[in-house]
Amino acid sequence: MASARHWLEQIRALPLRRRIRVMNVCGGHERVISMAGLRGVLPDRIELIPGPGCPVCVCPEEDVHAAIRLALRPQVILVAFGDMLRVPANVPRREPRSLEQARAGGADVRPIASPREAGKIARANSGREVVFFAAGFETTMAPVAALVAEGMPSNLSLLLSGRLTWPAVKMLLESETPGFDALIAPGHVSTIMGPEEWGFVPENHGMPAAVAGFDAESLLAALYSVLRQHLEGRAFLDNCYAHVARPGGNPTAQRLMAQTFRVTDANWRGIGVIPRSGFQLNPELAACDALERFGMRDDAGRKRAGEMPPGCDCARVVLGKIYPNQCALFGKACTPRNPIGPCMVSDEGACRIWWSSGTRGQGADAFASARY
Ligand code: SF4
Repeated sequence: MASARHWLEQIRALPLRRRIRVMNVCGGHERVISMAGLRGVLPDRIELIPGPGCPVCVCPEEDVHAAIRLALRPQVILVAFGDMLRVPANVPRREPRSLEQARAGGADVRPIASPREAGKIARANSGREVVFFAAGFETTMAPVAALVAEGMPSNLSLLLSGRLTWPAVKMLLESETPGFDALIAPGHVSTIMGPEEWGFVPENHGMPAAVAGFDAESLLAALYSVLRQHLEGRAFLDNCYAHVARPGGNPTAQRLMAQTFRVTDANWRGIGVIPRSGFQLNPELAACDALERFGMRDDAGRKRAGEMPPGCDCARVVLGKIYPNQCALFGKACTPRNPIGPCMVSDEGACRIWWSSGTRGQGADAFASARY
């Protein structure tokens, strides 16, 4: 593959006469863009917009709240990916507002790095109930489906908060102000679901799109592709991650997901319900559902859960309507050490990535003009 320098020179040579806004749909892409300082070396007319690519950021508050309530049960071990532990929920002052606070108060909350670890912990603690708070996109749901297919220990259940990525992009494209002119699609999701999943962007909306991997070379190649398409008045899906994201994706993963989950309408934190954007366990797997097992499916307590913390603009950050540094709390009340909203908690959250990479003054400000 050509070097990042090559693609940068190609991009700089393009005769861009007006602003073009390119959205990425992946926290991994945003991290590479920010850590490599790509915004600072690209022509001013190119805006790179972080989009809805952080599963922790969009995990509904009521799911976080349910996880905390389950963790507080004495017989329960609650396991979750590490960045879910610090996600705050809106609760009365006397209650723990995150899994981390529940753990500090004595709850048995354990971070894990893969779904398999949940099975191991359940087998090692057969006298207790283990709940796996499984929040993530297609790339997380595929290994969760494999865990179920392998046979879950009887004391393990799932609090599922899985989401599909493309419906959020479809929702934006069907809105009056999508806010972007081209799309860089996530390479890892394409590896599972197939790059074709993003074909609707050029086919239905006439918008240039390219699938990218997770280094500066691949991202710049994808960026060059969508800029060329834009200049030439064409729109197609270019796969710039073809050595990994193969046509049709991963059929085994798709088969496991189909036998484990059904796709339903789902709530995205701060955004609302997006049609057919969530994974739910198939009815025959109800025994694996933590909400069913603990009688919390119709829990009135969950319904009083709110949305984003007061003053937090995460929903608009997730939708690419504002940049992280346009939130009034960014870097002031809200930092990784003291996060107010989920976008500052997760390694895939745009606010945390911008803060950690130093993208909060020069460079970022150059792109932070009023968007609409
Ligand atoms: S800076 Fe903090 S409060 Fe503001 S949008 Fe980001 S996470 Fe939310």
